[in-house]
Amino acid sequence: ATPMAIMVGTGLGAINGILFKNASALEDATKLDVIVFDKTGTLTMGQPEVVELAVAAGMDEQKLLATAAAVEAGSDHPLAQAITRRAADVKRPKATAFRNLEGKGAQAEVDGEAVLLGNRLLMADNKIDLGELGAKSDALQSAGRTVVHIAISGKLAGLLAIADAERPTAKAAIASLRERGLDVIMITGDNQGTASRIAAGLGIDTVLADVLPGDKASKIKELQARGKKVGMVGDGVNDAPALVQADVGFAIGAGTDVAMDSADIVLMKSDPFDVVGAIELSHATLRKMH
Ligand code: ADP
Ligand code: MG
Repeated sequence: ATPMAIMVGTGLGAINGILFKNASALEDATKLDVIVFDKTGTLTMGQPEVVELAVAAGMDEQKLLATAAAVEAGSDHPLAQAITRRAADVKRPKATAFRNLEGKGAQAEVDGEAVLLGNRLLMADNKIDLGELGAKSDALQSAGRTVVHIAISGKLAGLLAIADAERPTAKAAIASLRERGLDVIMITGDNQGTASRIAAGLGIDTVLADVLPGDKASKIKELQARGKKVGMVGDGVNDAPALVQADVGFAIGAGTDVAMDSADIVLMKSDPFDVVGAIELSHATLRKMH
């Protein structure tokens, strides 16, 4: 391996917004068998928006929104930001006893009532019956929406359906990786229904859904135990351990500092297609080295 070729390779990368943080990444990127993509913020923009709202009988929309926003004021999750934005015009009560429920949602006390908000798993854990809104929740999830369920005093009060636009080059990046013979997998803490729908639209057929933040790295390990060289692409704090575990970790530049610190390659333009660019550049550099 000539230091000159490596310098040229990493230099060319840097000009194109692909930062190789170590020389071994340049070599390892040529050996990958599988690329695992995080969903939210990596394949999607990570700027979710509330697109639909459904209330249970006897509940009104304003109270539902105000209560949800009160709880989410304590969270910095992208879904929380979508909800507080949507509720910008409603007067929101103060929440106390806020607790983040990792990978599932959050809880707090609002106006003396216990509020629980998050995904279906969280509702099931707390034995909250979805009742008449169960079918609606199913339909929204299979349409690719992320559904946030809001329970007040142990009863489902309503749902907020949230959508997050795909990054424009995500689909082309996946097609190009598959043409090169790489397997592509989506990993997410989001539910199976939503994740499968988004994956299908992007041309990904393997989806690891409902993965708790602490479990992303072990999923990478399982693939490695099957003899695969694994690249992981992510943006979030919850992706950091998986980025470290992967043979090559790629961080989205618009993501968190923790993700960038944990990665081997940083994609400064936050463009999923730059995963292809990084792999191509690595092959070209290595050809010059031998
Ligand atoms: P991802 O891997 O998609 O970035 P997370 O692990 O952060 O997901 O969260 C997994 C799921 O937990 C989300 O899709 C959502 O359903 C639920 N969730 C987590 N935090 C919140 C929150 N603050 N508000 C609403 N839902 C949440
Ligand atoms: Mg993410």
